[in-house]
Amino acid sequence: METDVLIIGAGPAGCFTGKILAEHGLKVTIVEEHAEVGKPACCTGIVGLSGLRELGIKPGKWVLGRLRGAKIYPPSNNSIKLTRGKVEALVVDREKFDRSLADAAVKAGADLLLGRRCVDLDFNDTPLIETQDGVKLKARVVIGADGPHSIVARKLGLLVSSKYVKCAQVETEADVDRDVAEIYLNKSFSPGFFGWMVKAGKVARVGLGTAAGNPVRLLRSFLSEHPVVSGKVGKVVHNRCTGVIPECMSRRIHKGTVLLVGDAAGQVKPLTGGGIYIGLCCAKLAAETVIRAFESGRMRDLESYPGAVMKKFGSEFRVGMRVKKLFDQMSNEDLNFLSTFLIQDEVREIVLKNFDFDHHEKVISALVARAPEVLKSIGIRRALKYIKFLT
Ligand SMILES: Cc1cc2nc3c(=O)[nH]c(=O)nc-3n(C[C@H](O)[C@H](O)[C@H](O)COP(=O)(O)OP(=O)(O)OC[C@H]3O[C@@H](n4cnc5c(N)ncnc54)[C@H](O)[C@@H]3O)c2cc1C
Repeated sequence: METDVLIIGAGPAGCFTGKILAEHGLKVTIVEEHAEVGKPACCTGIVGLSGLRELGIKPGKWVLGRLRGAKIYPPSNNSIKLTRGKVEALVVDREKFDRSLADAAVKAGADLLLGRRCVDLDFNDTPLIETQDGVKLKARVVIGADGPHSIVARKLGLLVSSKYVKCAQVETEADVDRDVAEIYLNKSFSPGFFGWMVKAGKVARVGLGTAAGNPVRLLRSFLSEHPVVSGKVGKVVHNRCTGVIPECMSRRIHKGTVLLVGDAAGQVKPLTGGGIYIGLCCAKLAAETVIRAFESGRMRDLESYPGAVMKKFGSEFRVGMRVKKLFDQMSNEDLNFLSTFLIQDEVREIVLKNFDFDHHEKVISALVARAPEVLKSIGIRRALKYIKFLT
């Protein structure tokens, strides 16, 4: 079987790429290893509203909640609520969300092959992939949209680093505000990342990520021992899942006639690991690049894809990764200090004025632009310590 573009993986990034390509009249085949799109899903499902608008995705039956801000719990548990009062993000049902994107791709003309796992790839001449049932598929261009453990990235030697944040999440009853995402910063419970609690329809999604250790064991202690969380969650657990988030920019994203998109490409927010919005944006950039290459008849035009991604997100990725490095080295005492810094009126004002759910660089740059005041409130000794963390 031969097609113009073969997409491996029917997650959000793969389906969105497929939809745009099929709308432009290309012959598109999407291969998905599972029998159903969106299953199994392990995701909290928070997506910025302005990002979805930018991509032309209208809220549908997959919306489970609307968030107007965040409540941050530092290790001291003196929480800080940050909100501008308007809806900033949606909580989505990932199964339904993914299915709506797959339906749109099929409606545009893409073929969706379910229950077909790509087990081997040959890129010597015309790209050829083989599925677990021995079917061979040929294409002029291959898109690896096969998630964090991408076989395409591994087979092509595109992994730059194989660092992941390991996550565990449950759905349970919990006493949590409907319109804020609760974020728990505490090195003892979630080293190298954070914990969260978000209302999603009738239940709450409670989870954490960790750079080290067993996330399931850490989540168990988060639920039963964290001074705030243990008092909020119920005993009945509806849904347990584990998953990983790849490190931002941990893969090269182009080789020959192959492009990577989404988690397969390490296209996630450096600070929170959120990958839905960035993956969809990069899917659009990948599709536009492929369309140009087909129009010109020059497959080497695919080389422009990494540049297009860096033009849109390069600064966001670089700044976010530096701040992540700073967070990684902060102790619980530093995190408590940071929370006292955040409640100062002038700092709070900068944060609320510049916060952009999908572009964290904006608020970071605004704080850096006010460096003299920030330095004054942090104190020189502490500022020097944090600058050392960054170098
Ligand atoms: C616990 C947790 C919570 C998260 N919460 C959020 C959040 O709130 N907001 C946010 O923006 N992001 C969140 N993320 C990240 C988000 O889930 C991912 O960034 C997003 O799913 C990436 O989409 P994708 O299409 O690139 O990959 P995926 O959604 O992973 O889709 C890849 C698809 O490829 C298929 N596949 C894989 N290998 C093969 C193969 N060999 N052959 C055929 N098919 C294959 C898979 O079955 C899957 O359907 C979270 C992640 C975790 C682990």
